[in-house]
Amino acid sequence: MLKLFNTLSRKKESFKPITDKLVKLYTCGPTVYNYAHIGNLRTYIFEDVLKRVLLVNDFSVQHVMNITDVGHLTSDADTGEEKMELASKREGKSAWQLAEFYTKAFQKDLGRLSILPPNVWCKATDHIKEQIALVQELEKKRYTYVIPGDGVYYDTSKFKKYGKLAKLDIEGLKAGARVELVEGKRNPTDFALWKFSPTGAKRQMEWESPWGVGFPGWHIECSAMSMTHLGDKFDIHCGGIDHIPVHHTNEIAQSEAVTGRKWVNYWMHGEFLVIDQGKMAKSGENFITLQALLDKGYHALDYRYFCLGAQYRSKLNFSWEALDAAKNAWRNLRDRIMDFRQNHTTKMGASFEKHKEAFLDAINDDLNMPVALAEVWAVVKDETLGTHERLQLLEDFDRVLGLGIAQLVASQSQPLSPGLQQLLDDRAAARKLKDFKRSDELRKELLKQGIHVEDGPDGQRWKRV
Ligand code: AMP
Ligand code: ZN
Repeated sequence: MLKLFNTLSRKKESFKPITDKLVKLYTCGPTVYNYAHIGNLRTYIFEDVLKRVLLVNDFSVQHVMNITDVGHLTSDADTGEEKMELASKREGKSAWQLAEFYTKAFQKDLGRLSILPPNVWCKATDHIKEQIALVQELEKKRYTYVIPGDGVYYDTSKFKKYGKLAKLDIEGLKAGARVELVEGKRNPTDFALWKFSPTGAKRQMEWESPWGVGFPGWHIECSAMSMTHLGDKFDIHCGGIDHIPVHHTNEIAQSEAVTGRKWVNYWMHGEFLVIDQGKMAKSGENFITLQALLDKGYHALDYRYFCLGAQYRSKLNFSWEALDAAKNAWRNLRDRIMDFRQNHTTKMGASFEKHKEAFLDAINDDLNMPVALAEVWAVVKDETLGTHERLQLLEDFDRVLGLGIAQLVASQSQPLSPGLQQLLDDRAAARKLKDFKRSDELRKELLKQGIHVEDGPDGQRWKRV
């Protein structure tokens, strides 16, 4: 039975979707004013593991991820500049160009990390009509008020369950305690649904609305897009933990005020990647991209392996030493897999099913990937099983790990091209004649072409690197 920690109840709950075998999943996507940093990517890796665990449990998953390409302000208090326009000034390109550029960069990062793409990508700027319609619904139900010259706001005092997700202490929240107060806000927790363009200035991204020209607030985007693509009640909604007190709290207030009933059954949040105990933020100095890791010679999957080493609800401290350790562990695992491929033995033991169960128990216990990884190594070391059986287990586990183990095995299984086979044969012949200089040259040549050769008691062995 799959158990997931639900932020709503602060408990691990047995997972049961609304519709028998279909899971509707919404994950808050990036704000595309810059590259994603590896902290952001940790959250997307967690969500990918969640999705893979659902698939392994025989659910089909309808996954929607949005792109926030307008509306996210630099401060959660509805003050500050809008991030896309700000980036446009910084980079001297249009907000539209930037959105497209950073969306592509983000999608490329996901691909490099073996993150399965969502069924639906949706952009906030493609859903302005839906967002306006939702604000109109809220207006009809008297949840809104206008602050002239600023925007349309949601009156949080009208929504009785406001702050339940974050267990906010509304009474204790003095004005300005959580967020600095916008002049004219009735309650400190009120938030913008629609912001007006500044008078006398034209924004790059702005639209007509019944209240005036402007742009949508960040929270209404996710309510509108998730409801458009998944309906007005769905199973799981995810994001990083920073989304609990404001973004997701406000999404619930909007959506449940409109539908009049519970909107999402399970809320799941990934803990932060931290660096020297400080938060990694796009605006901070601790800004490391996936590309920066690649430039230093790491592979994207080294980072994926690193993230799998921590449970998603624990903080994960990033350091180069820790990343090196993950890189080495992942290389050792690959080496073992390639050795298994070369030394084919079959031996079925009782532990085969036990490993399968232990892995499933770990992933189904709120995605306990550190325990699942320990099981991977237990399989590697289990000599009561043949290499064939161990590979079978590892390939099966990889449906969740997403490390490309099946592809690795397949690449080892492809026969060598005649040219490479010739080099290997020549090398074997050179060794027989004790011509070690020649055999060394051939080893180097083979390595250049992606083949690593080792000499063992039963002759030379090769693997693709
Ligand atoms: P953003 O592009 O800023 O909207 O953030 C994208 C996702 O990354 C959100 O789900 C955030 O909650 C998450 N996030 C932001 N910072 C971190 C971090 N340091 N570690 C893990 N996730 C983060
Ligand atoms: Zn969102």
